[in-house]
Amino acid sequence: LKSDEHGERHLICNVIPMHGVNGEVLGGIATNQDITERRQAEQCIQTFARDLELQKQALEEANLRLSTLAVTDGLTGVWNHRRFREQLETEFATVKRGAQVSVILLDVDHFKLYNDAFGHPAGDEVLKKVAQILERASREHESVARYGGEEFAIVLAHADAATAKVVAERMRQAIADEPWLLRQITASFGVATARGVDESPEEVLQRADAALYYSKQHGRNCVAHFDEIDHLDGSQHLALKRPA
Ligand code: GH3
Ligand code: MG
Ligand code: MG
Repeated sequence: LKSDEHGERHLICNVIPMHGVNGEVLGGIATNQDITERRQAEQCIQTFARDLELQKQALEEANLRLSTLAVTDGLTGVWNHRRFREQLETEFATVKRGAQVSVILLDVDHFKLYNDAFGHPAGDEVLKKVAQILERASREHESVARYGGEEFAIVLAHADAATAKVVAERMRQAIADEPWLLRQITASFGVATARGVDESPEEVLQRADAALYYSKQHGRNCVAHFDEIDHLDGSQHLALKRPA
């Protein structure tokens, strides 16, 4: 309904028919209820609810971005150290149920010399590239993390020592095979496998680190599993692989 005086109005019109003795309609009583204000209030609420929903969505997206940022390494885009630790803890829970969990640590060889020769920004590019190569060489559920400086780490769920060594070797080879522009880049690898429920994630990490140290001591650009250096005469049994 439109009236010049009040603009557009909304009415609810109720008509009650009045019947004669034979049931014929004689007339009716009509009432009009002006619900214009109610309609306006309803529309206001709808607009408000829509705005609220949009704000909620924006907030959720911002939260997601923030939580991704909180676990991502700023330079390379892979998981950061904190996220790596969390994942290690999570995967360790499966050790109780009999699963095998392994850890790979790797460290870029002679990286200080690279920085000294070509500058820090060029060094950063190498770290980005190494991260990409590792991601390409890893399986879908293996998250690559930047452990620190020029060190990376990978938790391998459901991977025994032999499997973990194969993965590490594939990664080592992929880095060595990359056509590096300025200077050949290689990395040394240390691998360790959880021994059971009595061991903490920290202990496995320490063993992986010891294996990495062993790789550094034995010519770099190689993979060492802690179990092989622990019980055996390492240099004989360790798979030392250097480019031809
Ligand atoms: P090694 O083969 O024994 O590992 O020798 P290295 O030179 O790689 O090891 P060292 O620990 O002496 O040096 C590590 C270098 O890594 C020094 C440090 O400046 C560099 N580095 C650490 N983080 C970054 C980074 O984010 N960007 C760049 N460009 N360099 C980094
Ligand atoms: Mg280092
Ligand atoms: Mg290094």
